Amino acid sequence: MSTDVVGPASLVEQLYSELDQKVRVLRPKDDFTQLEKAYRVASEAHKDQKRVSGEPYMVHPLNVTLILADMQMDLVCLETGLLHDTVEDTRVSLDQIRKDFGEEVARCVDGVTKLSKLHLYSREERQAESVRKMLLAMVNDIRVIIVKLADRLHNMRTLQFLPRDRQQRIAQETLEIYAPIAHRLGMGKIRGELEDLSFQYLEPDASAELVREIESQRQQNEEFLNKMRHEVEVNLAREGIPARVEGRMKRAYSIFQKMKRQKIGLDQVYDLLALRIVTDSVKNCYAALGVIHNEWHPIPGRIKDFIAIPRPNLYQSLHTSVMGPGGRACEVQIRTEEMHRLAEEGIAAHWKYKEGKKGPGVDDQRVIWLRQLVEWQKELHDPGEFMSTLKVDLYPEEVYAFTPMGKVIVLPRDATPIDFAYAIHSDVGNTCVGAKVNGRIVPLKYSLKNGDVVEILTQSGHLPSKDWLAIVKTSKARNKIKHVINTTERAKAIEIGQKYLEREARRAGVGLSRITKADLERVASDYGCGKMEDLHAALGYGKFSARQVLQKLLPEQLEVPLTEAPKPAAQPAAPGQPSALTGDLVIKVKGCDDLLVYRAKCCNPIRGEGIVGYVTRGKGIAVHSTNCPNVQNLMYEVERKIDVEWARAVTETFPVKVMIYTDDRPGMLNQLTSVLFAEQSDIRSLEASADDKRGGDGAVIDMTIEIRDKKQLERVVNAVRRISGVRDVERTQ
Ligand code: MN
Repeated sequence: MSTDVVGPASLVEQLYSELDQKVRVLRPKDDFTQLEKAYRVASEAHKDQKRVSGEPYMVHPLNVTLILADMQMDLVCLETGLLHDTVEDTRVSLDQIRKDFGEEVARCVDGVTKLSKLHLYSREERQAESVRKMLLAMVNDIRVIIVKLADRLHNMRTLQFLPRDRQQRIAQETLEIYAPIAHRLGMGKIRGELEDLSFQYLEPDASAELVREIESQRQQNEEFLNKMRHEVEVNLAREGIPARVEGRMKRAYSIFQKMKRQKIGLDQVYDLLALRIVTDSVKNCYAALGVIHNEWHPIPGRIKDFIAIPRPNLYQSLHTSVMGPGGRACEVQIRTEEMHRLAEEGIAAHWKYKEGKKGPGVDDQRVIWLRQLVEWQKELHDPGEFMSTLKVDLYPEEVYAFTPMGKVIVLPRDATPIDFAYAIHSDVGNTCVGAKVNGRIVPLKYSLKNGDVVEILTQSGHLPSKDWLAIVKTSKARNKIKHVINTTERAKAIEIGQKYLEREARRAGVGLSRITKADLERVASDYGCGKMEDLHAALGYGKFSARQVLQKLLPEQLEVPLTEAPKPAAQPAAPGQPSALTGDLVIKVKGCDDLLVYRAKCCNPIRGEGIVGYVTRGKGIAVHSTNCPNVQNLMYEVERKIDVEWARAVTETFPVKVMIYTDDRPGMLNQLTSVLFAEQSDIRSLEASADDKRGGDGAVIDMTIEIRDKKQLERVVNAVRRISGVRDVERTQ
């Protein structure tokens, strides 16, 4: 026996020669040098690999390419079929493929490789459509999908070698993702086989039972179909209509679905048996329909004209169901040869090699196809242009990304991890502090790409930043961020407003505890605030003055204290105390004016220095210098941090304490004061003493001077340093 001496390597050779013969018959004039080269490169790359079945790995790409050859696909497709697993599984690089086989093949191999890396399996039914779209969105050449479908078909045909869990996963993915894509692309033949194979693995019992039942009726059904076919052939011939008539039985999975959906038995599936009439012209399709209806009684409501109105996937045929011999129902499908090819092969039919028929007609149809596809999604701007290069971007407005658990999140193009986080859940968005894409940390402004696996890093208590509003692309994220920012700012304003009122009451020597809730609510409603909380917020935002509110609450008690109330200008506040009744006018809170602010005692920031606000409990907003050592500790409570800035055009000065170490010599103080005079800085207090700590031979001058801003302070300090005999100048608080 020859098979005994033929080793596994020969199986590969055998398949290749089958492929070679097939393409030579289909395309006698083509040059197959590149195809042979693809075979050699792939065989070499896979030579040490085996499939789970034990066969050499190369058997798989060869079978995939045979499927493509049977579909009469072009050479780019066939070369891609042979090479499709090399970049993923071997040392062959995409660059090498580009160099050896050109840009188109490289693009297709790259596309197939990218799809292989995706885990498309989805348990959620509503996810399936997103996954299918994502898959199509990742493809820039429709031939990638065709190769991928051939790849999947061969894997399904050899699924019995895999362990059960993988069988289930692959079959599920095939049924949910790949079979519907084949359907969309009009590839009825592949779709049917993918569905039946999946069904076999996913519902082994139901499938086996159905097959048994169909088998038990087979002889009877075949007899019926043969009889019917013969009668149709005779009738059509009598009318001079050229036709090929085939009997067919509905596919197992279609039958199963129908029985399940309509809760019926096999004997009630009226279109179980069908005849297919393939004729030469549209005119003869309608003529054949007339012949059929003349001979057998049509079942009302079962006549469908998909020639006049094609299905969305461009399927065309006339359908009717008639009462056949013995009163048995039979479906009849009537179509032209061209329609038949399209029904079986769909979009793949357009890549078919057609000798002497390479005119614009073929390309036109290809464009129509994709236009149709695109209309299905309504989003391509100029299909003709995209199609001329065979490149497609079916979903230019969308990007599809995965959660680590494999859920697909559909977002607009250029969406960021923040949008992704909010798409999962508002809490995830609000507490998002970072993101990993495909395992790597990325900036939050990163633009997500199709197929990215995104992991959001969260930290409880974290709040969204205003800066995010400039980055996010989805309105959901934008609205949620705005909402949180408004809520936190309001909470801060309420807290500040409340303390503001309490402080004002203390100043006036009035105990707020004596005021009843009813009084508070009355005053709140006087101000148009529904609740006391709203009044506090309005006070915090500086809409009303606390003194006025207090006056309304306790008019008789406040009369005296208010007339004596000091004017803010007449009595400048000491450092570390709120400087004015309405807060420190030289600093304002970004985005919400007139919150009560004061400069922190610890660092006493002056104009021009970097500052940051911190909401205290009870004293309004403390403003620290960003250099202040306390800031680091305070900022652990990020939610209490608030952005502040120096208000413009205010001529207020800040008291700044400095220590000046000098030689102990006469005239020093005089020189100092003239420097300060020259810099227009007033001295508020001055104290000179012997410098005990630094060796005893010098003097130390402790001064508080009035400073407008950081620049003035720098000028003063530099000028003081230049005075001969000055050893050091230090700012102290
Ligand atoms: Mn493969």
